Amino acid sequence: MTQLHTQPSCADDYDPDSLSVAEALQRIDQVAVPITGFEKVALRSALSRVLAETLSSPIDVPAHTNSAMDGYAVRTADLPEVEGSAELVVVGTAWAGTPFDGKVEPGTAVRIMTGAVLPPGADCVVMQERAGREENKVRIGPGNKAGQNIRQAGEDLATGAPVLEAGRLLTPADLGVLASLGFAEVRVWRRLRVAFFSTGDELRAIGELLTEGQIYDSNRYTLYGMLTRLGVETIDMGVVRDRQEDLQEAFRTAAANADAVITSGGVSVGEADFVKDILTSLGEVNFWKIAMKPGRPMAFGKIGNAVFFGLPGNPVSVMVTFYEFVQSALKRMMGQRETAVVTVKVPCATRLKKRPGRMEFQRGILERLPDGGFVVHATGDQGSGILSTMSRANCFIVLPEDCGNVEAGRLVDVQPFEGLM
Ligand code: AMP
Ligand code: MG
Repeated sequence: MTQLHTQPSCADDYDPDSLSVAEALQRIDQVAVPITGFEKVALRSALSRVLAETLSSPIDVPAHTNSAMDGYAVRTADLPEVEGSAELVVVGTAWAGTPFDGKVEPGTAVRIMTGAVLPPGADCVVMQERAGREENKVRIGPGNKAGQNIRQAGEDLATGAPVLEAGRLLTPADLGVLASLGFAEVRVWRRLRVAFFSTGDELRAIGELLTEGQIYDSNRYTLYGMLTRLGVETIDMGVVRDRQEDLQEAFRTAAANADAVITSGGVSVGEADFVKDILTSLGEVNFWKIAMKPGRPMAFGKIGNAVFFGLPGNPVSVMVTFYEFVQSALKRMMGQRETAVVTVKVPCATRLKKRPGRMEFQRGILERLPDGGFVVHATGDQGSGILSTMSRANCFIVLPEDCGNVEAGRLVDVQPFEGLM
């Protein structure tokens, strides 16, 4: 006779056949390698793309030694060291873009604007607020040093200095740096193509009427959102019914057109065998039980040349497994060097219920206190179908496998959503 568990037992969460989150990440790492495919793009189009060449500076930035202030370019040898003042004759003006055509001779000064080339002879710029101008003379007191208010040629980037490394996701600051060096275009990885579809007879597309037992397909929308934020090219293949021929056809088409294929649903115990047969005939796919909550069942491997992620069906599980596994794998395939999810330690304001055995990703709200510190609290119901608490959350509270209940006030690991969710 089959024995039914009426009480939840601790033993339920310890499964000797489960993979830890770290082991799963390691195995994914070995399969999800950078694609080879590059293109040259104009500088503006390079924002949020992955740089595919290591660049060094072809010029000095700034190109000339120049003034950091509006003031007077002078020789420190002409100025008093500790007391009194010097009167210098103002012989001309150096503008940004129009240098002074001459030299700063002993006893003279040149009026200089921010960014203007420092005229020869000068070794110091005195800011205008500290100089007394009277007609063609300027009076300057003590306390000025050689090099003061001067930006040296090459102090930002010297010719030949390394600037940006291949594998970097280009930021607005990077675009500015590249522009300052005169780069009109750069080599980047081509966009990653990701195909995705939902599986399930109960799913309806928005716009259709729901009959008894049917639900709207939400996973394709959260996946679309996260993939778009990652900057990949998305191929939305819709909903595929739980029918052998339909699934087979969908897997084939997806793998032929994309670098990565993501599905949701159909990988839990009840249905695994069905999808398993198809996937075994098309590629090398493993069905994993991962020691995590939510998101225990997951399929991973390759179909043809495409990397395949079979995510669970529950809406929150889709988002958790995407955040923890798919995100870093796709970033690596896109050519990115830095792919790890950021974790910080923060005190937890609420008591958290947890049983040992699985790593848990609870939805949390990270909040700034009036004193500038941070605390996190859980969003409430942690069921893997409750997507509304996911939309209220701004982070995951990550509780390790062995950890039990967490008392209020304890430090916990938190992963802020970082713009993806
Ligand atoms: P499955 O793993 O296919 O048994 O799905 C697990 C649960 O997630 C079921 O309650 C499904 O109805 C639900 N589910 C699966 N796919 C989706 C989807 N695309 N959108 C919303 N719910 C889904
Ligand atoms: Mg299903």
